Amino acid sequence: MNTDVLIIGAGPAGLQAAIHAAKRKADTVVIGKEMGSALFEAKIENYFGLAGVTKGADLLATGQEQAESAGAKVIRQNATSARQEDGSFAVVLESGTEIRARAVILATGITRKKLNIPGEAEFLGRGVSYCATCDCSFHRDVPVVIAGDESEAAVSAELMTKYASTVYWASDSRDVDDALMEKTVAAGVRILDTTIAEIVGTEKVTAVRMADGTEIEAKGVFIELGGKSSADLAMDLGILPEIDDTLKVSPDCATEIEGVFACGDVTGKPWQLAKAVGQGAVAGLSAAEYAKSGR
Ligand SMILES: Cc1cc2nc3c(=O)[nH]c(=O)nc-3n(C[C@H](O)[C@H](O)[C@H](O)COP(=O)(O)OP(=O)(O)OC[C@H]3O[C@@H](n4cnc5c(N)ncnc54)[C@H](O)[C@@H]3O)c2cc1C
Repeated sequence: MNTDVLIIGAGPAGLQAAIHAAKRKADTVVIGKEMGSALFEAKIENYFGLAGVTKGADLLATGQEQAESAGAKVIRQNATSARQEDGSFAVVLESGTEIRARAVILATGITRKKLNIPGEAEFLGRGVSYCATCDCSFHRDVPVVIAGDESEAAVSAELMTKYASTVYWASDSRDVDDALMEKTVAAGVRILDTTIAEIVGTEKVTAVRMADGTEIEAKGVFIELGGKSSADLAMDLGILPEIDDTLKVSPDCATEIEGVFACGDVTGKPWQLAKAVGQGAVAGLSAAEYAKSGR
């Protein structure tokens, strides 16, 4: 199969890129699975124009329909490898099918690092969150615990003092500069020098059991360990990811390899829907222009 623009990733960045590329009359194919998107489990309340709380899975379903009605083809498969060939790109799917494209957009998102403890998966979205910026306002006037040993956890803990009744920051080590540590403590964050061993609850989280044997009442657990991008395909295409595994892009979402663009969480923070969609639009327009220019 040949196409002008091939988008790897069917999250909000990839689907928005598909809408814009297809509306520019570029032949557009998107590969990826909606369940693989960070948005699939999210509840959104901070996106422009959406009042109240909207299910991320509903946004993905609508976004996919929009991409298809704009003319894009959506294939629910993962890409297993990619390569440059004769001024274009070849991407192999898990079925073995190969797609050739003039331009490629990487919209593969990130995988958030996990604690891998009992209760973590069970209570995801029911008290367990990987994003304080996203879910802070769902935890007003209740006790919460933050896990993580780097600045991300400190910043999240400080933010949560503006919402929660009590904020505990649990970690057996901390790699945070002195100024940030002082700011975090001054905000009222309670430091626990132990890690979370188990998240417990019934319908929702009610407490956490710590590695030192203590138990703390908590209605929210924020796991702020950072994330890892899916950079393997980028490396297949000759792109060297940044030290934190993200992909550097120019303002038009171009990577260092001509004809390869990137958008969304894979390009770095903030890991937010609004940024993913904004960059998706830019990448879609840039890739369509590149593919149609015959460079
Ligand atoms: C629990 C949770 C709550 C959140 N709440 C909010 C919120 O309230 N507000 C907010 O703004 N943001 C929120 N976010 C963040 C938001 O969901 C992300 O910023 C957004 O989804 C990023 O979009 P993306 O398209 O870059 O990546 P993703 O949505 O992660 O999509 C990546 C896509 O790439 C695909 N993919 C990966 N590798 C391959 C491959 N090899 N081949 C093919 N496809 C591949 C995946 O399957 C997926 O389809 C939340 C995230 C989580 C996890």
